[in-house]
Amino acid sequence: MRYETLLFDLDHTLLDSDASEIAAYAHTMSMIELPDPDDHFQRYLRINHAMWAAVERGEMQPSEVRFRRFEQFVDEVGISADPVAMADAFVWGLGAFGELYDGARQVLDQFAGRVRLAMITNGLSEVQRARIERLDLAGYFDAVVISSEVGVTKPRPQIFDIAFEQLGQPDRQTSLMIGDSLTSDIRGGSDYEIATCWFNWRGAPADPDLTITHVITDLEQLVEIVLLSAG
Ligand SMILES: [Mg+2]
Repeated sequence: MRYETLLFDLDHTLLDSDASEIAAYAHTMSMIELPDPDDHFQRYLRINHAMWAAVERGEMQPSEVRFRRFEQFVDEVGISADPVAMADAFVWGLGAFGELYDGARQVLDQFAGRVRLAMITNGLSEVQRARIERLDLAGYFDAVVISSEVGVTKPRPQIFDIAFEQLGQPDRQTSLMIGDSLTSDIRGGSDYEIATCWFNWRGAPADPDLTITHVITDLEQLVEIVLLSAG
């Protein structure tokens, strides 16, 4: 086997986070009086995206995103809703809604007992813990590292240090980071000097400055890379 330790991102890699977010948004908006909330979904996405980019740059903590995205949303839309209540409802919805991508569990099943799996996620603890519980994922992973619990985010090497420590210091040569994000997963794995697998299901352009070991467009392709490689 070429790889013995797999480090997975969760959002948009194993989990359909778009569906989770759409449902959480609808749940949140059902609690406030805002006509045509769908008209403002793109605004939410823009605010949220900018804040998580700030997290990746180390300028913001995940716990701040939880509230501040709705503080800014309420401010921009010009409504009198309570951003704290909205943040609570949204986080509940993110945990409660959204399934694994088709085939993702089957891929994990094929790795179970054959390679060691870890999850490294920049999400919020309360969201990710609720999803892990609801989707019965804990049994797959020897380590689950959630940025808001450990105070450091991908792509920083310290979050990989924590995962490697929890895994008992596996060989970096046979470790692979799998994720959809160039800026957190691939940058993080590359800086940590482990192999990377970019799950580019969006068909996004690569970053020429970034070394990517493998690119896949379907998670099933990972099985071949990990289990069927010579060596
Ligand atoms: Mg992701």
